[in-house]
Amino acid sequence: MNLQTSIQYLKGVGEKRAALLRRLDIRTVGDLLAHVPRAYEDWQTVYPIADAPLGVLCCVRAIVGHAPVEHMLRAGMTLYKARVTDGAATMNITIFNSAYAAEKLKEGKEYLFYGRISHSNQAAEMTSPQIANADENRLRPVYPLTEGISSRMLETLVGRAMEFTLSQVKEFLPENILREYDLPARQEALRLIHLPNSIQDSQKARRRLAFNELFLLQMGLRLLRTGKEEGRALPLPSHALDDYYAKLTFELTGAQMRAVNEAAEDISRETPMRRLLQGDVGSGKTLVSFLAALRTIDTPSLEGTGGQAAIMAPTELLARQHAENAALLLEPLGLKIAYLTGNIKTAGRKDLLNHLASGEVDIVVGTHALFSKDVKYINLRLVVVDEQHRFGVMQRSLIMAKGDNPHLLMMSATPIPRTLALTVFGDMDVSVIPDMPPGRKPVITHLARETGEDRVYDFVRNKLKAGGQAYFVYPLIENSDELNLKDAVSMAQRLEKKVFPDFTVALVHSKLDDEEKRQTMERFRRGEITVLVATSVVEVGVDVPNASCMVIEHAERFGLSALHQLRGRVGRGQDQAYCFLVYSDGQAGGLTEDGKTRLKVMLENNDGFVIAEEDLKLRGPGQIAGIEQSGYFNLGIANPIRDVETLARARTDVFSILEHDPDLILESHRIITRVLQEAPPFGIPYEEVAL
Ligand code: ADP
Ligand code: MG
Repeated sequence: MNLQTSIQYLKGVGEKRAALLRRLDIRTVGDLLAHVPRAYEDWQTVYPIADAPLGVLCCVRAIVGHAPVEHMLRAGMTLYKARVTDGAATMNITIFNSAYAAEKLKEGKEYLFYGRISHSNQAAEMTSPQIANADENRLRPVYPLTEGISSRMLETLVGRAMEFTLSQVKEFLPENILREYDLPARQEALRLIHLPNSIQDSQKARRRLAFNELFLLQMGLRLLRTGKEEGRALPLPSHALDDYYAKLTFELTGAQMRAVNEAAEDISRETPMRRLLQGDVGSGKTLVSFLAALRTIDTPSLEGTGGQAAIMAPTELLARQHAENAALLLEPLGLKIAYLTGNIKTAGRKDLLNHLASGEVDIVVGTHALFSKDVKYINLRLVVVDEQHRFGVMQRSLIMAKGDNPHLLMMSATPIPRTLALTVFGDMDVSVIPDMPPGRKPVITHLARETGEDRVYDFVRNKLKAGGQAYFVYPLIENSDELNLKDAVSMAQRLEKKVFPDFTVALVHSKLDDEEKRQTMERFRRGEITVLVATSVVEVGVDVPNASCMVIEHAERFGLSALHQLRGRVGRGQDQAYCFLVYSDGQAGGLTEDGKTRLKVMLENNDGFVIAEEDLKLRGPGQIAGIEQSGYFNLGIANPIRDVETLARARTDVFSILEHDPDLILESHRIITRVLQEAPPFGIPYEEVAL
């Protein structure tokens, strides 16, 4: 058995449990070791019954006075009562509906009872305690769980997994770093995180595991920059640029121009570009990337040497949109554009790959598929990563590895806190587009109570009559019995039949297949569909300038960054755009204080950076928008904000190691490659490398 062995083959798992464990992303024995406790129960401090604190979780050790007696309250409700003593005091134990737990207790034997003590009729009482053998007084892990899997079960399985595989976990940090940071060895850290002798132990272990992640992150980032730092100074294909500008129906804004020039300068230098382009939703980042592509590629009208650019986006919808725009703007200049996603299969894909490998394709636009194993580039000179926070560091490394140290342009609409930007992207140059293209009027935002939605519908109907289009967004795809919320599927029907019978209404959500989604989006873009009902799938990047109304129902259920992204879908054309935040304060969960604040923030602000700051305040640094959830770093244990100091130190270390000992660059390539090939726990979540 090793770390890659499927979890199903661990004793005590089997097919059924393996399926449950998969829900926790545990697929291999290594995944199980990497599934670290979120807290610990203190079964170590054992209280005498008389001194035990009341009403809080605690542990007592006591002997069973008489075995549990069964009381049938009514059908389906059985209760077992036992009395236990620690010599000085007695305590009543009540167990509900668990013959199994009750039968385990043997008269005259000593056990640990973990639960909350209350006093009734002068006697101490513990209801539904957890019970363990008397000698198991230690810290017990509390794991993130899913239905059908308990912490105790995981504890047993982890113990077993460690017995067989812990010795196979390899150290990858140099001795001196371990010493300097006072970090335990990797095996030791894993053992201690699951089975600590003290809270200090567990903290030490956590620090080591977090360090793994931060170190590898920095190593990955650093390696993005290594290789032959030659770069290539290209002649600027200026007439191609002129042709390109002539095709645009508008002028670039000052900020766009500046970003283009900054990128162009980078590209003409010896060292390859490493640039992060930040700009709010709708600020026009895409055009900047096209111009960077133009500057990187020798156009056929020049040398014809076939330099290539890859533009990578996180969703098919977005990739296709970029591909179409690129075709529109760049193909007339003689460039060949291709579109590649995981869904393009068989013959078409083979041709496409051949054209890429032979250099017939100049620009390829696509999703993660761009760095699939079988994709080969003849001369990849520029990598553009759109919505970069949606990709992990390793994914970015993998696309970079397709070229010989190509230029890199990363784009993001998620504002990055300054401290973080400095540490993580400290070796990147940054361009910012702080303003919107001219002629854009800020979106007018209105709040509406659910009961007033008819007025919203009337308003939208008037806009539709005047030739506009609208989005309606819902938090759920389908009706759910538990949550009394409006859902996209039923509302699409209602809007079509009752509310907007004169207009075409269509539905998109993530459960539809990609082709259907694409066709619907395309028809919406062409104006054949007037009202698009959706879930937050429309959140990222979709660009339909004629759509001027965004109605978000149950707006109180959405996070600030989602609301901001959604609102950014409108106001992209010349018409005044409107966003209606329809909230319900009725039965459906009600309107929480945070919910109220979020709506207020949206009402009062249009600036994404301000909204991000507010988001940070509301949610706390651990959860800042788009950082943890969307895998900003895809870290498991480390928290980029809390651990920012360690991050900074890890970065310095990695840099000094690599700079002072160039041989180590090779060595670290080897480390990273090995760590990537190994199963977890290596610090970087598995999905990131399971390509
Ligand atoms: P984002 O920064 O969110 O990726 P996009 O690149 O998708 O923004 O641009 C949003 C919209 O603005 C697109 O329809 C694009 O054609 C348009 N646009 C970009 N630059 C300008 C400009 N300088 N003037 C007018 N419209 C522009
Ligand atoms: Mg974009």
